Amino acid sequence: MSVMYKSTRNSNEKMNASEAILKGLSDDGGLYVPDNIPELDVDLNELAKMDYRQVAFEVMSRMLTDFTPEELMHCIDSAYDKKFDTPLIAPLVKKAGANYLELFHGSTIAFKDMALSILPYLLVTSAKKNNVTNEIVILTATSGDTGKAALAGFADVPGTKIIVFYPKNGVSPIQEKQMVTQKGANTSVVGIIGNFDDAQTGVKNMFNDKTLAADMNGKGYQFSSANSINIGRLVPQMVYYVYAYTRLVANGDIKAGDKINVVVPTGNFGNILAAYYAKEMGLPIAKFICASNENKVLYDFFETGVYDKNREFILTTSPSMDILISSNLERLIYRIAGDDSDKNTELMKALGSNGKYEITPDMKAKLSEFYGNYASEEETAATIKRVYESDGYIMDTHTAVAATVYEKYKTATKDETPTVIASTASPYKFTRSVMEAIDPAYAKQSDFELVDELNKLSGVKIPQAIEDIRSAKVLHDTVCDKSEMESVVRNILGL
Ligand SMILES: *Cc1c(COP(=O)(O)O)cnc(C)c1O
Repeated sequence: MSVMYKSTRNSNEKMNASEAILKGLSDDGGLYVPDNIPELDVDLNELAKMDYRQVAFEVMSRMLTDFTPEELMHCIDSAYDKKFDTPLIAPLVKKAGANYLELFHGSTIAFKDMALSILPYLLVTSAKKNNVTNEIVILTATSGDTGKAALAGFADVPGTKIIVFYPKNGVSPIQEKQMVTQKGANTSVVGIIGNFDDAQTGVKNMFNDKTLAADMNGKGYQFSSANSINIGRLVPQMVYYVYAYTRLVANGDIKAGDKINVVVPTGNFGNILAAYYAKEMGLPIAKFICASNENKVLYDFFETGVYDKNREFILTTSPSMDILISSNLERLIYRIAGDDSDKNTELMKALGSNGKYEITPDMKAKLSEFYGNYASEEETAATIKRVYESDGYIMDTHTAVAATVYEKYKTATKDETPTVIASTASPYKFTRSVMEAIDPAYAKQSDFELVDELNKLSGVKIPQAIEDIRSAKVLHDTVCDKSEMESVVRNILGL
């Protein structure tokens, strides 16, 4: 059965997967959603015998139905290779009463690699299939991790350029160093005076700007997106939930068909939405536990049914989750509105004009599989220290938000369902916050001294991504105001 993609703001316009991947965002400002999610009609015991790439093929071939098996295998094989530091790609590690799904073994050591190592291949294949001759300009807003993962994925890919905007004062020192040292003639990295939401709004505005699109087309360019608004990111993210489940089956921790819970540290709602889509495909998931940091707009939403971004933006030690406008929530809103694009549009308009909307009681009733909670900065740090001291396992700050919320969930519900925690970054990416959580005395040391200390404490090899930036030269130093993003893009492209 073929899957078509339609906009959350207009159900009439339908296109196939490759067209939706190329466009990124619909012209009406909506996000592309599948018009149906096919059943994963493979025995879970059979899936448990497969490796990551084979599972990826089973899941993705059902969602990207206009890709031939050869095209898809090429994309999968090119993405999930030696760039990952383990052939398991996403190992499931049992520690401290939970299963940590380590999604950070790719080249930029955050979970964004899981999708962004394949997106360039999906995009280039999509361009070929649709006879696109324009050069594709990837325009990306990042809260820190998407930027580097997208840069690494698209650097020197023929037929593409990539421009990344990040909040100048809103990412970790290592995240920034990773981005501004990026090589590749087709890469640009720009810091903005503003926060992630400003960067994301600026990028979305450029996508919807018809004059800019016409000027680009005149010069042989067109935009696409590497943000999780692109369906080409969400589909590869469904894979690792299926893979994690099959590891639990393979290890004998559960029987095929048993339910599991998943805990996801959430910012833009892409990662957890991919889990939700995996369930719609048939994966037995009971609860989606949505973990927020002190920017707890999603927790409040699950509690009250009111989404309200009118609040102080807090810079935390889990910067990749410092987000108040959670883009992918729109896809869930559309679903719980009964795939009603008019209703969804009305709510998103309210978000645009008042920064706020309220869902109906009927819609709220459809959120019963979700549990939301949040972790304060103190609780996050305490979790890192506690699990290090009890199990010798050192997790990053984002994963620690998830682990903290999981403890709160268990205390509140006594639910002992086997649980997978999405572990979204290597502790080496947030070394300073992680080490200071373990002992405040580390505050005196430099970033790279702390890298060596972390290595001593954890016994985990220092990732290549960190070694690479120790001595790398800064190649990008453009900084602009959030209001100048379009002129920077015009400048880079010579428009
Ligand atoms: C992006 C990111 C998140 C949040 O993921 P979303 O898909 O935006 O919800 C969490 N942790 C890390 C380390 C990230 O890079």
